[in-house]
This record gives sequence, structure tokens and C-alpha cells, in this order.
Amino acid sequence: AQLRHAVSHHPRYGMPNQSLLEEAVRTCLPDVPPPGLAVWILRMNRFGFLESILPRDALTDLVKVYADELARWFAARNDYVLLAIDGQHRVAALDDGTLCFVTVGAPSAELRMELSLFVTRRFEHKGLFVAWDPHIGVAVIPAGMDQPSGITEEARVALQWCDAHRRVTQFDADRMKRDQLAYSLTLDLEGAIDRGELVLQYQPKVELPSRRTVSLEALVRWRHPERGMIPPGAFIAEAEATGAINLLTMWAVREAARFLLTLSDGSVRVSVNITAFDLATPKFVQSVLQVLAQENCPPDRLILEVTETAALSDRERASEILAEFRSHGIQIALDDFGTGYSSLAILQEMPLDEMKVDRSFVTDLAEVERKKAVLEAMIEVGHRLGLTVTIEGVEHEESVEWLARNGCDVVQGFVFSRPLDAQVARDWIAKHGPEQSPATAHTVGTTALSL
Ligand code: C2E
Ligand code: MG
Ligand code: MG
Repeated sequence: AQLRHAVSHHPRYGMPNQSLLEEAVRTCLPDVPPPGLAVWILRMNRFGFLESILPRDALTDLVKVYADELARWFAARNDYVLLAIDGQHRVAALDDGTLCFVTVGAPSAELRMELSLFVTRRFEHKGLFVAWDPHIGVAVIPAGMDQPSGITEEARVALQWCDAHRRVTQFDADRMKRDQLAYSLTLDLEGAIDRGELVLQYQPKVELPSRRTVSLEALVRWRHPERGMIPPGAFIAEAEATGAINLLTMWAVREAARFLLTLSDGSVRVSVNITAFDLATPKFVQSVLQVLAQENCPPDRLILEVTETAALSDRERASEILAEFRSHGIQIALDDFGTGYSSLAILQEMPLDEMKVDRSFVTDLAEVERKKAVLEAMIEVGHRLGLTVTIEGVEHEESVEWLARNGCDVVQGFVFSRPLDAQVARDWIAKHGPEQSPATAHTVGTTALSL
């Protein structure tokens, strides 16, 4: 019996371990009513830190008390019962910093919220106060399943989706498939570039009030032989996480440079999106300049769009790099302005030419007075800093008229055009490009100021 206890319980806490938990779940699953059981995994993110500052026994006690309080919290509710794993335990320990428990029935949004509040409060035991910084993943195991493989697997996947704002997340098969797709796509990004499956489309950026197209934003799409046209949202983030983005960025710069030189108007600029990873890449500036030189493209025809988050990751370095780009005539636009945490700090610090206000500020503009107030203020700040103010994602003519009246310099959105294939974009520029006076074509910011 002692041996059996040793192999089925966690050596440090004496709580049931993973194998005993799985056994308990398998045993009861045939009798559970639909929809089934919910498996919860709680990871104490600060466990490692606490381990480094507390005596081992004290931390062991704290974890046990935390698990007990959790069991008691469930016992005090009458809607969700914790499955008994062995005679005395309802909480298992998967490893030193990870607990697991099982409830009957699918977890409601309300339960997830209340649990999140409960586990994040500060725990006290014998005068020690502890904030565990917990994350919880939960997944439903359908009733009637005979031999579910890996009882905890899906809950572990959901655990990965937690962050400071989402303490408790539930497994979602669609999301996992999307993540898997993004990952597999990224693995093949280099191949896709070599096979010519990536294409750039170009969306006009239209100057107000003249309504001439002064620049185009290059937006990547993956023309996948089996999956059809894949939008950048499906692979950019993963490509950034794995570093594959660098190849894509350099490819996009080269492609945009070649495209630029085929335009009928020699003053139109093209903007290319870059990421935090690019900014952290050694010799990024030189690489970009080299590509432009190879393609015979003057640097002042290129705009680089950087998001706030990219600029934020290492502000000082980002500032330096952006300044270096500008010293070579490449313009810098701050993309998706207003969506990050410290937009104004960035505006104040970063060397910029253009501010692109996120499209969330312009949707439903017609109805919302508050939005107008915020937009007016943003346009004002941009102008005071000498920036060209671009509003993205404009879909309605009424918005364009309002923006023109309120001094916005450039509008980009479906109201004028969707992103266009290269040939169509060329035709567009032939028709809607600026009149051939490059000297005045780019003083947008200053003319708008005098309105
Ligand atoms: P972004 O740089 O903010 O680009 C604008 C996005 O808004 C584009 O989506 C564009 O198609 C969309 N859009 C433009 N006008 C409207 C409108 O009126 N209404 C609505 N609903 N949407 C509009 P897209 O092409 O799907 O690109 C999404 C994001 O992916 C881009 O956001 C950018 O952050 C990223 N991205 C695209 N191409 C590249 C690239 O070559 N490199 C990198 N690093 N990121 C890229
Ligand atoms: Mg952009
Ligand atoms: Mg944007």
C-alpha cells in the first residue's frame, strides 16, 4: 500500500499525481452526464521565484494550503462539484508549480470569471503573503468517452493562451487549428518566397483635400497552392515569433522597390511594414539600404511602417535605428497609432514622419461625438509634432468629408480602394497619382496646418 501511494502521489505535497488523476477520470467518465468533465490546470507562475526566496518547507506548506483553499472554495458553491481523486484529495499536483482539478459539467463564463478573481487574490498563511500569478487552462472531456488519451493535454494547450489579461482560458479546437496552420505556414515561409507564392498588394493612400494618391501601402498575401489566398494576419505573428519575418521583410522591401520603379509617377512612395524583430536584427539599416541600391531605388521613395509595440520593445535602440533610416531619406510612419499602451510617449520620443491612426478610431464616426473629439485631438497632436496624419480604414464618404474638414492629411481605406494587384495599382497611379510637381506633393502636413 505504501508503494502504491508512492507511485500515485506527488512526493513533495502528498497530493495525487497525474497518473492517479487520469485513473480517477477514466473510472468515472462512463457514468458522467453530458457534456462531461472539465479538467482545469493551474500554473503558479511565481513558483520559481518563491522557491528562490523561501525555505522549501514553507513553500510546500503554502502550496498545500492554496490547494485546500481552492477545494474549499468549490465546496462552498453548489453548482460545481470537484471530482474526488482519492479518498481525501480533490486537487492533484502535476509538478511542483502546477495543480489540476476536475469539475462535472462544462464551465460557465461566470465560473471562469469568479475563479479568476479567487485565485488571483493574495493568499496568506502563517503571516506569509503570497501572490502566485496563476494562469488556468480548462478543457472539456466529453462524457461517455472510453479511453480519452491525455486527459490534461487540451487544458495544457489552453494554459498557453493565458496572459495578464486572460487568467483563465478555455480550450478551443478552432483556435488550435489556426495556431497550427500559422506555425506550419511559417515553417515554409522561405520556400514560399523561393517559389514566388508571396505577393504584395498595394493600397492607395489618398491626400486630402486634393484626393490624389501620394503613396501606396504594400501588404503581403500568400497565394497558397492548396489553401488559396492567405491574409497576413494568419502568419505574420508566428513569423515574427520565429524570426522568419526577417526574410519576408527583406523580400517585401526588394519587391516594393522594383514596383516603385515601374510607376509612371516618380514622386509616389511605397510603404512597407516592418516589425520589432526587424528592428532588433543586426545591420538591418544596411541590409535595407543595400537592397534599395541593388534595385536602383532612391531611399526617399520608401516609407517604413512601424507599430507602437515594435517601437516599444527597445525604445532607445529603436529610436537610433529609425533616426538612421531617416538620415538616408527613408520616411518612418507609426502604424496603428492609438492601440498600444503608451502611444503618446512614443510620439514624443521617436523620430517620425507620419502617424497612421488606427481604424478603430474612425469606425462609426458618423454617430459618435466622442470619437470625433479624440480624432480631432490626435490630428492636432500629429500636426503639432510636424507629422503627416493618415487615418486608416476609412470606409465611408461622410467620414472622408469630416476628416477633410478637420485637417486630416491622408486617408487610406476601402472608401477609395482595397489593396490592389501590382498591375492594377500601376494603372491607378497613372490615373490618380499626384500631378507632376514633386516639390509640392509632399508638403501635405504643412498645408493642412493652415486650415
Ligand atoms: P496594417 O499595416 O495596419 O495594414 C492595414 C490593414 O487594414 C490591411 O489589412 C488592409 O487591407 C486593411 N484595411 C485597409 N483599409 C481598410 C478598410 O477600409 N476597412 C477595413 N476593415 N480594413 C481595411 P491586411 O492586408 O490584412 O494586413 C493586416 C496587417 O498585417 C497589417 O496591418 C500589417 O500589420 C500586417 N502586414 C501586412 N503585410 C505585411 C508585411 O509585408 N510585413 C509585415 N511585417 N506585416 C504585414
Ligand atoms: Mg501598415
Ligand atoms: Mg495599421
